[in-house]
This record gives sequence, structure tokens and C-alpha cells, in this order.
Amino acid sequence: MQMIKRLLFVTNNAHKLTEIRQIAGNQMEILSLADTGFSGEIEETAPDLEGNALQKARFIHNLYGFNCFADDTGLEVDALDGAPGVLSARYAGIKATHADNVNKLLTEMEGKTQRTARFRTVIALILNDTEYLFEGRIEGTISLSTSGDEGFGYDPVFVPQGYTQTFAELPAAEKNRISHRGLAVEKLMQFLHQNEKSQ
Ligand code: IMP
Repeated sequence: MQMIKRLLFVTNNAHKLTEIRQIAGNQMEILSLADTGFSGEIEETAPDLEGNALQKARFIHNLYGFNCFADDTGLEVDALDGAPGVLSARYAGIKATHADNVNKLLTEMEGKTQRTARFRTVIALILNDTEYLFEGRIEGTISLSTSGDEGFGYDPVFVPQGYTQTFAELPAAEKNRISHRGLAVEKLMQFLHQNEKSQ
């Protein structure tokens, strides 16, 4: 079997798509939901990241039969018992903006001295009807206030371990090199290469 040259990423999130395309480089063409013509909503009702990633990949695989992958990410803050976690997108409510979520997080963290946290990404791949999971994580801390304009989501308040800037202050290429999603995508790419060699 040849290395897969094109793979569908089950997402409508333009930021994630740009990041993943940068990470995949010219190894693989990454298509998105927009390329399939699918414009509906896909439910994310599982209790954990693994379940949500599988739910999204299975939905599209059942609909079209394509090989595809989906990801789900959560920010886990130790002082908040792992919140917002799987609810990261909806932390401040169903219609919350990224700014609403960041503001809620900073409010919840007021006065807390323990500020350790991690981003965790799970990728679910469905390849030739078999399911695989890959995980990437990065440890860091939650800053006292927002800094930076790059990235999205909680980037303005997440300082990766070993850095003094937030993700939103780092160049995109540097974030991708060390990020949760970058590491998970790297594992996905390595798997696809190994899979190719073993065929
Ligand atoms: P998703 O389920 O993978 O879309 O991620 C859930 C939420 O986590 C997003 O709505 C963002 O708030 C947050 N998130 C995911 N990835 C990142 C990231 O790379 N930086 C900052 N926040 C992120």
C-alpha cells in the first residue's frame, strides 16, 4: 500500500486546519469538511476527549466511508480539578466566545497560586475501517492576564513549560513544534509512515 497522500480532517475550524496543514507540510494533503460539502453540526456529547474525537470521525466515516481523522482538545487546569477539560469550548456557556472562556478562566483562577495546566489533544483516525487513537500533551501554567494576539482559544493565557511567553506570543511555527496538537499530529504522521513501510 502507498503512503496516504490525502486525508480528510473532520473540522470546520480554520485555525486548526491551518496549523495541521503547516505541520503536515508537503507530506500529505489535508482536506477539511468544507471540501466534502458537509455543512451540518456534528455532535460532541462524549464524556471525554477520546470519545468526542471518535464520535466525530465515526460520524463522517459512516456518512461517506472516507478514511478520516478528528481531534478533540481540552485545557486541564489542576487547581480547577481538570476543568474546563472536555468542556473547554463551552466553558462560559454554549454560545461562549474564546474571549468569554478566557475571562471565565481568569476569574476562576483569581487568588490561586497553583497555576499548572496542560493542553491535551486526542486524534481519532479511521483508516481502512480500523480505529486508532493518538495523544499529544503540553504542560504549562495559566498566566495572571492575557498576552499576545496569535493563535486562538486559551492561547493568550497559556504559558508552555520552559517559556516566559504565552502561546499567543509565540510565532505559529514555534507553537506547532511544541504544541499538544503538533505532537498528536506528529504521532499520526509517524504511524502513517510506519503503516506504509509494513505493507
Ligand atoms: P476542540 O474541541 O478541539 O475544538 O477544542 C476545544 C476548545 O479548546 C476550543 O474551543 C478552544 O477553546 C480550546 N483549544 C483547542 N486547541 C487550542 C489551542 O491550540 N490553543 C488554545 N485553545 C485551544
